[in-house]
Amino acid sequence: MRTNHVPIRTCLGCGQRRQKGELVRIVIKDKALMVDEGGRLPGRGAYLCHCTECVHRLLKKKGRLSYALRAALPHAVEEGFLRDLLLPEVGEG
Ligand SMILES: [Zn+2]
Repeated sequence: MRTNHVPIRTCLGCGQRRQKGELVRIVIKDKALMVDEGGRLPGRGAYLCHCTECVHRLLKKKGRLSYALRAALPHAVEEGFLRDLLLPEVGEG
């Protein structure tokens, strides 16, 4: 019997549980943080809502992102990555 199984993940910013597709997946690749746009990169992922508020929330939780990814990243690395996420996207919208 098939079920409509939808993976649920928790946002690191607000702690709300959402469908995986509603969240940004963050992974570590080559010791750098990156957004997993296609959701296909291997390894442990961390999840965050598509909203600047949650990025700001996570920015205040030092070490939270690297903890979620089981990586000991300097906070400066986390912070730089998260601040990049805050940059306004170019284009319509
Ligand atoms: Zn959130």
